[in-house]
Amino acid sequence: MIWFPYTQMKTMAEPIEITGAQGIYLYTKDKKLIDTTTSWWSVIHGYNNAEINDALKKQVDEFSHVMLGGLVHEPVKALSKKLTEILPGDLNHCFYSDSGSVGVEVALKMAVQYFFNQEKPHKNGFVALKHSYHGDTFKTMAVGDDEDYHLAFPEKEGIYHISPDADELELLLKDRHEEIAAFIVEPLLQGAGGMRMYDVSFLEDARRICDDYDVLLIFDEVATGFGRTGNMFVSDLVCPDIVVLGKALTVGYIGHAVTVASNRVFDGFYSDNPEHAFMHGPTFMGNPLACTVALKSIEIFEREDYMSKIKWIESRLRDIFKDFYSDRVKEVRILGACLCIEVYDSADLRGFKEFALEHGIHSRPFIKYMYGMFPYIIGEEELLRVCSVYKKWFDQK
Ligand SMILES: *Cc1c(COP(=O)(O)O)cnc(C)c1O
Repeated sequence: MIWFPYTQMKTMAEPIEITGAQGIYLYTKDKKLIDTTTSWWSVIHGYNNAEINDALKKQVDEFSHVMLGGLVHEPVKALSKKLTEILPGDLNHCFYSDSGSVGVEVALKMAVQYFFNQEKPHKNGFVALKHSYHGDTFKTMAVGDDEDYHLAFPEKEGIYHISPDADELELLLKDRHEEIAAFIVEPLLQGAGGMRMYDVSFLEDARRICDDYDVLLIFDEVATGFGRTGNMFVSDLVCPDIVVLGKALTVGYIGHAVTVASNRVFDGFYSDNPEHAFMHGPTFMGNPLACTVALKSIEIFEREDYMSKIKWIESRLRDIFKDFYSDRVKEVRILGACLCIEVYDSADLRGFKEFALEHGIHSRPFIKYMYGMFPYIIGEEELLRVCSVYKKWFDQK
């Protein structure tokens, strides 16, 4: 049998069986549902994109995989070149892995070894934000701060959690910079920790403070990368030393992530000493199928000017929720193609999933958050339909 994620198997509701998926729609035996989850925020083009399918099939017929240990191939060369072009600053060195969590692990390991190679082995701790989510492996759980996910794994040694507040960061680093390797953040939008949003000015301050105290700045853009916040990358606004991309990198086809390091970080490993090498290498890193999908996705993203679609989604959402009020709703947050309605009491979302299904919408609220992470191809009519169902839920109660 299947063991499902994030769920108590004993009380779990029957999962919805999907028989097809096309564009923004999921199909069941007898229903057609608008999907507002983009399957954990990855399927930005919608499902079953013909162009990506074709590119993938073509690569399958050539070869599906070779390891990156001592071998290289055109898809991984082309993707690395493309990523280096579209990422800001000198984020030039692409290290591939098979999931966002591993991509974050790679970033954390890079930061620690960067200082180890400089004979500063004590600089191995991390600062992260309260309510942060960075993945489900051990170290990513440790830098994460969300007991809803990691209740049984409280290990936090050498890790400090702060609010997005420059003074707090400055005070902490002033005191502890000799034991801190990096500050890791989900920039602008904290996803799984509750779609929390904060101002870019904090990131600008964080950049300066990290430089002052010789601490690396890591952006976990696994969720925010590729337009979600209305910026292609938040790194375009403030440039980190290491950025991690995942989820929308391979748009729901094949799990993959990339950890991209700046020249400064890369140079910290580049030497005549073999012990300075970065010792990591996932079996499927740089998989040709994943790279082919990512390349085709970026091509479509640019050609179809997705950034203006995202801007349009954001402005429509702001308009639609301008006068919305319910005494159960604490806050409506909108950023790029992300909508979050936070309620005061999680009980107020009980039954919402079923209500949405009856209205032809697939939604998966969690804790106190009802959200829409829309595929960028959503049209006016469908966006209005989703929002009217979200509003109606509060009207009828
Ligand atoms: C989803 C997510 C991850 C983990 O990615 P996986 O591919 O699920 O391992 C890490 N960081 C952030 C910000 C995420 O949203």
